[in-house]
Amino acid sequence: MKYYSTNKQVPLASLREAVIKGLAGDKGLYMPEHIRRIEADVIRQMPGMPFADIACIVADAFFGEDIEKETLENIVRDTLSFETPVVPVDRNRYSLELFHGPTLAFKDVGARFMARLLRHFLRDSAEPVHVLVATSGDTGSAVANGFLGVEGIQVHVLYPKGKVSPIQECQFATLGQNITALEVDGTFDDCQALVKAAFLDETLNAKLRLTSANSINVARFLPQSFYYFNAYAQMAARGVADEWVVCVPSGNLGNLTAGLFAAEMGLPVKRFIAANNRNDVFFEYLRSGKYEPRPSVRTIANAMDVGAPSNFARILDLYQHDHAEITRHISGAHYTDEEIADTIRRTFDETGYVLDPHGACGYQALCDSLTDKEHGVFLETAHPAKFKETVDAILDREIPIPDKLQAFMQGEKQSIALPNDFDCFKQYLLA
Ligand SMILES: *Cc1c(COP(=O)(O)O)cnc(C)c1O
Repeated sequence: MKYYSTNKQVPLASLREAVIKGLAGDKGLYMPEHIRRIEADVIRQMPGMPFADIACIVADAFFGEDIEKETLENIVRDTLSFETPVVPVDRNRYSLELFHGPTLAFKDVGARFMARLLRHFLRDSAEPVHVLVATSGDTGSAVANGFLGVEGIQVHVLYPKGKVSPIQECQFATLGQNITALEVDGTFDDCQALVKAAFLDETLNAKLRLTSANSINVARFLPQSFYYFNAYAQMAARGVADEWVVCVPSGNLGNLTAGLFAAEMGLPVKRFIAANNRNDVFFEYLRSGKYEPRPSVRTIANAMDVGAPSNFARILDLYQHDHAEITRHISGAHYTDEEIADTIRRTFDETGYVLDPHGACGYQALCDSLTDKEHGVFLETAHPAKFKETVDAILDREIPIPDKLQAFMQGEKQSIALPNDFDCFKQYLLA
């Protein structure tokens, strides 16, 4: 399978090139040339199948032409060392819990898959690859843990000093091995600027193999379609898969785009809802047809604080820039911090279910738009304990911390302090 850039200014790339490069040379996003449909008969057999078996079928449709069957299956099975269960919350509303992986957030799926695929493509290369990632919290932990112990790959996580929560910091700054955490005396934007400057620096690129691991990489975003099929299978097994609506708490729109791909492959979904926080550029686009990116504002659902969603270009491309077609598939919702807090409180009081601030946007959107005949699933993108200070304050109680998170908190922080200065960063990488 070949991959084209959404900007269409560069030649087609192989899967290997697309994964190693991340962003296309014309700054477009790579798209697979074809989206292979999965036969309805095959989809009908998914209820009752193990998640990994479902994922192998979906992975084969994307990557089967490029990677030998057994290798691909090993990558998929090795990635999915955890389940993504569908849990009933209230009436016709269900939570797809994507937080049972190592860092308790959905990004584990894409990060783990990408690490293994990159390793596969670089298996015959003696030269190490350096993955650079700037993080404001969640991405750094998923990427660091996804790549932990993967031979031949060095990961450098840049994060703003004093600006990530202690729980988030310990998830990438205590790991050691091939993971180095760089504590930058600056903001998240400074960290991102340092990473961007490194990719543009000729000396660095002549001496080192650098790559990125953000959600624009096809190897990170395509595998997210696996759990949409798994969600369908679980809903169908419960007999509630008709008039099926899926709601995705959205920031950079990678997760939603993976769902739209799944729909193109034959996933029997009626419609999607994209739930934003106050950073509602996509909501506004759906409403008005105008795309007007703007600087992000801080919210309690901070992994969705995105002012210029990177995967928007993929959604436009998928539907040939046709606004009517896009709104036929997707409707929008947006919530303030106060509304998110109310939803978390009310849902806990009425059902006992503890939402995280991101999932709360998704759940509320189902409450607001689902009809009695429809069955809704929202993606619960992270475990509430990852945002413990916020959720504890809203519920006025201590929510328990899962063992996995507790284990990180016992590790010792081993970050390297770095001034906000490109030359220092460059010297560090060359040393
Ligand atoms: C990254 C993230 C999101 C947003 O996902 P996108 O693919 O960027 O839209 C939502 N919730 C959590 C917890 C996240 O970490």
